Amino acid sequence: MMPPGDDSASDVRPSGDPVSQPCADSQYQLLFDCNPIPMWVFDRRTLRFLDVNEAAVRQYGYTRAEFLAMSILDIRPPETAPDVVVDVARRVHGLQEPGSWIHRRKDGTDLDVDIVCHDLIFQGVDALLVAAHDVTARNQAQRAARQAEENYRSIFENAVIGIFQHSADGRVLSVNPALAHLHGYDSPEHLCAEVSNIAAQLFVHPERMAELARAAEHGIVRNAEVELYRRDRSRIWVLVNLRSVRDGEGNPVYEGTAEDITDRKAAEAQVRFLAWHDALTGLPNRALFVDRLETNLAATARSQQKAAVLFLDLDRFKNINDSLGHSVGDQLLQAVAARFRESLRTVDTVARLGGDEFLALLPDIASAADAEQAARRILEAIARPFSIRNHRLACSCSIGIALFPDHGPDGETLIRNADAAMYSAKEMGSSRIRFFTREMSQRASRQFSLENNLRAALDTSQFSLVYQPQRNLATGAVVGMEALLRWQHPTLGPVSPDDFIPVAESSGLILPIGEWVLLTACSLLRQWQREGRPVIPVSVNVSAVQFRHQDFCSLIRSVLRETELSPRLLELELTESVLLSNADVMTSVLEELQNMGVTLAIDDFGTGYSSLSYLRQLRASRLKIDRSFVRDLATDPDDAAITAAIIGMAKSLNMRVLAEGVETEAQVEFLRRHRCDEIQGYYFSRPLPASQLAAFLLAAGIRCADTPVPHPSPDLTSPAFPVP
Ligand code: C2E
Ligand code: MG
Ligand code: MG
Repeated sequence: MMPPGDDSASDVRPSGDPVSQPCADSQYQLLFDCNPIPMWVFDRRTLRFLDVNEAAVRQYGYTRAEFLAMSILDIRPPETAPDVVVDVARRVHGLQEPGSWIHRRKDGTDLDVDIVCHDLIFQGVDALLVAAHDVTARNQAQRAARQAEENYRSIFENAVIGIFQHSADGRVLSVNPALAHLHGYDSPEHLCAEVSNIAAQLFVHPERMAELARAAEHGIVRNAEVELYRRDRSRIWVLVNLRSVRDGEGNPVYEGTAEDITDRKAAEAQVRFLAWHDALTGLPNRALFVDRLETNLAATARSQQKAAVLFLDLDRFKNINDSLGHSVGDQLLQAVAARFRESLRTVDTVARLGGDEFLALLPDIASAADAEQAARRILEAIARPFSIRNHRLACSCSIGIALFPDHGPDGETLIRNADAAMYSAKEMGSSRIRFFTREMSQRASRQFSLENNLRAALDTSQFSLVYQPQRNLATGAVVGMEALLRWQHPTLGPVSPDDFIPVAESSGLILPIGEWVLLTACSLLRQWQREGRPVIPVSVNVSAVQFRHQDFCSLIRSVLRETELSPRLLELELTESVLLSNADVMTSVLEELQNMGVTLAIDDFGTGYSSLSYLRQLRASRLKIDRSFVRDLATDPDDAAITAAIIGMAKSLNMRVLAEGVETEAQVEFLRRHRCDEIQGYYFSRPLPASQLAAFLLAAGIRCADTPVPHPSPDLTSPAFPVP
């Protein structure tokens, strides 16, 4: 060590341990100069360097001469407070504990140093010997490790997914907040305080944890679905990824992630449920019914017992849907489904096919009588009125029954045959039960072929129209006629409109057929007019499908244009339920028709659920009392009362009222007494082909006229009248 400007050997000795021998001095000097640890000596008072070793020169980039011209403040970053350095330099006595400092090299880069110092007298100057060990790399590594640790901790703490670590015996070793919240605990600490064994306390099926742990020993377990408990014992579904690691002592530790998939599982369950159930009623659907049926038939065959398939169809449900709206209809279906369910045993299956059609499977019955008894229970159950949104609704259904093995060897045949039996029950009236017979299956296949035959019927002129005159009761005058469609099939023979109109409606064929009816009826009248024959207005039945069709008004307009018939000679008959469904569309279409001059009659009145206020808005000219009320006028006091009420109501609305299906003198008498305006029925005339009708009208003294009987317009100021 050379003092500045002096090349003689210097005195580098700790001040507390003076060394006097020159040979010791030179050894210290050697120790100083050759020491791989950067070292220097500086003046405690002036802070100037008094000596530096080679390692310091290498570490800081200054030459020895440059060092000796500097103070220790020059190797500190300028932002360091100098008085701290001064203060530390002054306080040192003996060997100091290592301290950490930041130094700056000549090239401006900083380094972390651990400094050890000792006071000494250097060439008579009160000095400090400093060893500065570069710990930059070590500090950087530590900082990086700390940062990484913080990052991982933050990910762990803030993860939205649950992260856990537990021991093989189910002790919680570590969980993050997300996992604690997943289980309904406030914090990881809260969970750890209350859960001492994961399998016993958190797993719905504790053996599942052992199963997962075993699997984790063979590799990472991915996406295992596990059902767990929350703190309140509600259940959650969790998607778990798990692996096994070893702790410091070589014991297995399980760690992984857990994600709440309860919502997804619920959605999956819902989808599965809907695939097998009817969404509206929650009952099994056709697929589930068929599945159960097939399974059951196999067992029934072995047990020598019987099983019954019941086909249930609500009577006149369409009226309720059309007149009170679909949401009332839906609620009624739900209530009906519940009554069906209640009236059967738990082993029986009730399914909804769609619409108002239901199926029931009664397994293990001894005889047909058992099935009939169950069917009666169902009829009784739904005979009690239903209360839905302030409506008190009466409901009934028709039931067809097919027995296994008597009426079919498999599920599909049994359902088809029960369906045929149900149709047959419907034909007998409402609330009927019928067992399947062989003749029914022939009828069912006939229904099926109807649609195919209908398609050909228009092209091959199988349709014709008959006309049924209508008479004024007071004067006896013929005031109009109703056009009724007839279908004569080459092999099936005559087919009733009641059979083929529903098929035509459901297949859409009613549109071309209805157009043909309108054109034919209007053309006939126009032709008679041209020939100078007697003419009376014609009423044409319009189906709901036609009426709802967007081009209905333009169809009427084009038919009238084509046939050049006066619109006042055309009346459209719409059933009550048609008028009540789509009320908003209805009013504008009716208005357009009335503006054209076409008149309107409400057909089959009494079978729907019309409200009086609604009827007023329709401004129909005529009300036709359904023939089901007229039929038993003389014998059924209820029908008589209803008919009388309808007549009174129509009069209060200034509508003409016509009774349909009048067959007897007694009915005519009753209607006359109650001042019904008009009648139509076999009593007066059956529906006639055009050729016979002309003669009939001539005989009735009808003259050529293109001005029909004036239709009075409804009086909207008249008082309300109770609707039956
Ligand atoms: P609707 O409009 O109520 O027609 C009256 C029905 O009563 C006709 O049956 C008629 O033949 C029958 N009838 C008339 N007088 C008597 C009687 O004194 N006693 C009995 N028991 N019945 C009588 P039809 O011709 O079988 O028609 C049945 C239904 O088919 C009609 O009922 C109508 O809703 C529908 N329909 C008929 N032709 C057409 C058509 O061209 N288009 C549409 N959309 N429907 C039609
Ligand atoms: Mg009619
Ligand atoms: Mg009618």
